[in-house]
Parts: sequence; C-alpha cells; structure tokens
Amino acid sequence: MKILVLPGDGIGPEITEATVEVLHALDQQAGLGLELERRDIGLAALAASGSTLPDDVLARVPQVDGTILGPVSHYDYPPRAEGGINPSAELRTRFELYANVRPCRSVDGLTVLRTPMDLVIVRENTEGFYSDRSMHAGGGEFMPDPESAFSIRKITARASRRVARTAFELARTRRSHVTAVHKANVLKLSDGLFLDSVRAVAADYPDVELRELIVDAAAARLIRDPASFDVLVTTNMFGDILSDEASELCGSLGLGGAVNAGDDLCVAQAQHGSAPDIAGRGIANPVSLILSAGLLLDWHGARADRPELRQAWQHLDRVVTSVIAEPATRTRDLGGSLGTADFTEALIAALTKEP
Ligand code: ATP
Ligand code: MG
Repeated sequence: MKILVLPGDGIGPEITEATVEVLHALDQQAGLGLELERRDIGLAALAASGSTLPDDVLARVPQVDGTILGPVSHYDYPPRAEGGINPSAELRTRFELYANVRPCRSVDGLTVLRTPMDLVIVRENTEGFYSDRSMHAGGGEFMPDPESAFSIRKITARASRRVARTAFELARTRRSHVTAVHKANVLKLSDGLFLDSVRAVAADYPDVELRELIVDAAAARLIRDPASFDVLVTTNMFGDILSDEASELCGSLGLGGAVNAGDDLCVAQAQHGSAPDIAGRGIANPVSLILSAGLLLDWHGARADRPELRQAWQHLDRVVTSVIAEPATRTRDLGGSLGTADFTEALIAALTKEP
C-alpha cells in the first residue's frame, strides 16, 4: 500500500513522525507492505517552492492508495495569488472527498459522560459554509461595504445524498441507526433540502432507522445521553463543531481519528488543528493522527480486499485504547505526563507485545 505523508504545520511534523513510527511497527509485525512517501506542504513548502500545496504533491494524491495529511495553519498563509492554498480544503473539494468520517468512543477513566459514547459523525465535506472553491474568489464570503459581511451557505441535493449514503452504509456495519442533524425549522430551504435528501436515501435502506434531530438539541444530547447515537450525518459546519464537542467529551481533542473519503480516494486527517500554542514542544498527543492513519488502512483494506490491513486497524484501535486507559501512559492533554516521543514508544511497545 502506497501512502503519501504530508506533515503540515504547527504540531504536524511531531505527530506525523509518531504516526510514521507506528505504521512502521505495524508493518514489521504484520507484513503489510506499506510504502511511505514523505513530501512537504504548508509553510515549509511555501519557503522552498513558493506554494503551500505544490503542484507535484497535489498530482501524487490520486496516484497513491491513501494520503496522511497533517494539520495545517491555513490562517497564517498568504493569499492564493502568493502561493497560499489551504491543503485541507483543496484536497477535499478537488478530489470530492465528500464525507468526513469521525468516530468518537469514550474510554473509561477519561470521560465525564454518564453513558458511554460510541458514535461516528459523518460530516458533509465539500459545501455548506466552508465551500472555498464553489463560490467566487474569497470563498463563500463577501463584504458589500465595510460595515456588512455576508456568508453564503451552499447545500445541494447531490452532496447531501452522497454523504447520506456513506452514513447509511456505515450504520449497516454498526447499530443500524442514523441521526440526521439539521436546523430545518429555521433554515427551511437549505437544511430542508439536506433533510429531504437524507430521507430519500433512507428509503433505500429499510434495515437502517432514520432519526432526525435539531442541531442545538443534538449538542445537548451528546452530553446527556451519547449512548443514544450510532451514526450522525450533518452539514459541514455543524459536523465540524459537534465532532470537536464529541471528541473532547471522550477525553481530548487529541483523541479523535478521522478520514476524508470520496468514491475512490481517502485522506487521513486528525480532527484537531495545528495547535500552534504547543507546537515544537514535543508534548502534542499524536493519537488523533495515528488513529486517522489506522482508519485509512481500514478503508484501503476494505476496497482492495486486503483483510490484513483491516486486522492491523483493529489491533491498533484496541491497543491505543488500552494504552490511554492507563494513567501512566497518557499525554498531558489527558492529564498525564508523557511527551509525544515517550508516548509513541509506549504505544509501539504495547503494539508489538500483543499479537
Ligand atoms: P483549526 O482552525 O485548524 O481547527 P483550532 O483553532 O480549532 O484549529 P486546534 O489546533 O484544534 O485549534 O487546537 C485547539 C486546542 O486544543 C489548543 O489549545 C491545542 O493546543 C489543543 N490541541 C489540539 N490538538 C492537540 C493535540 N494533538 N494534543 C494536545 N493538545 C491539542
Ligand atoms: Mg477546529
């Protein structure tokens, strides 16, 4: 399996290094045949080649079996004309990676929740409020005069249906219910179209139950009774916010793995951002990116019919859970004392000890 590795900005290089070490350990243990190809993006690439997403790196993405994208500090980039391209938004829209799949599972001892959380948020990834490329220059925002600013939110039936399909397919492999999260009581046209599209897809999945919930109620229910959710499907910004809430409720933003998936391509990406406040200090929790890489192995394993990749993911997921359940092997964001490198070493020791 050929994997393109793009370390990114902020804590990106540190957590990417940890992820690469873990992948090497899994490969040595199970003979997965992983071929990793590391390339610069972000501010490192801007300095070297004048673009935060060089053309030759972009061209590699559809040629490999999967990509690991580190977090990027896109808010520090120069304008597009000066080489500043948000790699995350560019990859999602250009390659139609329409589903951002974010599993969240609570770990005993790390969560304050009253009922266990084991859910997956499937977030629409190509439109909504964050549709950089689908609008005119400047993305979906404009200021007609210095005193007023507008944001345009684009919702289409096509994008809503395809993300809904991802959610229903996933629910079939889990507890068979999907909750569509929306605000159609106020945003009657846009969220109304999203909801109608999800309902239309639900008709093809009589074995999966569709529930509907308004986004503010969903934010509350995530705290009160997370066990009542299986798969959630929602529009771009709601999904962004709810998944941070969900992973923090599980213990830390640094825990949630995620992939951006389309029909043919998949990009692993941590749920959190580049965390500039702790960058370069060797204290970031690498779990989110490590689990994201594991989800990528699983995604490719399913498509290429390579069960050993799927087993490697199961093994990784199990061992990560047991390592973070142990207070002595936690990073600081989880109340522990380990830095990135020591945590990674402990994780690899546990991975290679257990079959
Ligand atoms: P973005 O706009 O890219 O989503 P953000 O503003 O949401 O970025 P994050 O980079 O996700 O911000 O960071 C939010 C907070 O969580 C910061 O205080 C950061 O230090 C912390 N954090 C994020 N990721 C990690 C991690 N892997 N380990 C430890 N702390 C983290
Ligand atoms: Mg964020």
